[in-house]
Amino acid sequence: MIPYAKKPPTPVQNHRSRFAHHPLEVCEDCNGWIEADILPHDRPTLPADIDRIWPKADGWDIIASNGMAGPGFTWLPCQCCGSTLGGLRYPAIAFREEYPGQ
Ligand SMILES: [Zn+2]
Repeated sequence: MIPYAKKPPTPVQNHRSRFAHHPLEVCEDCNGWIEADILPHDRPTLPADIDRIWPKADGWDIIASNGMAGPGFTWLPCQCCGSTLGGLRYPAIAFREEYPGQ
């Protein structure tokens, strides 16, 4: 006699997460740092400046968003490091994994 097949166990949903993400317009310095780890010699504090706004300790990470059109020249502050120097801005994304209910 063939026993009834057991139902597969229901996956335990104890690790439901989602990615929060924010589109950013970032300065040339940030773009080089994000894309190629290039730290401009006149901006040694760049990683710390970014970390003040998007703390790695809180899970934030920034990635370049290639393929999206950049906004071009603007005087608006860089949304990644906070620099208020006018200049070209490039698209990037800040994201982190979030766990609802925690
Ligand atoms: Zn910047």
